[in-house]
Amino acid sequence: MRQPPRLLRTIPALLLLLLVLQAAPVPARQARAVVVLSFDGVRADALQGAWPEVLRGQAAASWSARTVLPSLTLPAHVSMVSGVGPEVHGVRFNDWTPEMGRLTLPTIFTRVRGAGGGVVVLLAKPKLRFLVPADLPAEWLAFPRHRQAAVLDVAAQRFRQERPALLFVHVADPDDAGHRHGWMSAPYLAVVREIPALVERFLAQVRAAGAWEQTLLLLTSDHGGHGVVHGSGRPEDVTIPWIAMGGLARAGVELTQPIMIYDTAATTLAALELQVPPQWQGRPVREALAAAPTGR
Ligand SMILES: [Zn+2]
Repeated sequence: MRQPPRLLRTIPALLLLLLVLQAAPVPARQARAVVVLSFDGVRADALQGAWPEVLRGQAAASWSARTVLPSLTLPAHVSMVSGVGPEVHGVRFNDWTPEMGRLTLPTIFTRVRGAGGGVVVLLAKPKLRFLVPADLPAEWLAFPRHRQAAVLDVAAQRFRQERPALLFVHVADPDDAGHRHGWMSAPYLAVVREIPALVERFLAQVRAAGAWEQTLLLLTSDHGGHGVVHGSGRPEDVTIPWIAMGGLARAGVELTQPIMIYDTAATTLAALELQVPPQWQGRPVREALAAAPTGR
């Protein structure tokens, strides 16, 4: 029996290919990426003192952003990723075990994933798994991998390999040093002084991956501290750094507008051209972005 013409034979295959392409999820904005680096316990004045001229010219930076009350790790991080304050999310506890369940509010993790974007979460404290839906893998980097240089190395590697739309990285070293030796003590400041070089090294990897133009890096913190504690409304506890870098950031700008920790969530979505939920208190920090995104 004669074979049908070659073109006819390939049509079923072409139709199948078309169906597969149609069924594939549409990535959010696959080229764009936001990296959130949360350095636990970094006071704005401590980082400002260590921030070199070379990075000043590359960043849109605020040294007077504020966290929420209580100025504690879990409530603050919930605000950072959910776009709302404790009066809305209701999380005031700072200890968590898996039996307590996970945060059920919409977050940058659920919104980005819902839009088809890849999400990678690296955490240096196990309790922060509370932030992440149980079915979204979040890697807890236990000691000694949780040392900040090691965490940033893992983060850069994951960024280059997976190119997620959202990479969220939590670093615990500054908070550890603050509780052990005191905020603004010599050992605490030594840890903070390492941060700019770590960020530069991370950004070099972003450039090497060819992703600079489409990447926004947000460097911030969950709270500051005084003595060996934090949690109060004192300026030393609530004033945090908020710094935008990368190709999607406006370079060489000192941000003067009031910035709240929950603006991180809104800025993340806006940079990815995703809609910011209208019920969020957080607003995109447009002054920090190179071009006006189409989000709210
Ligand atoms: Zn903390």
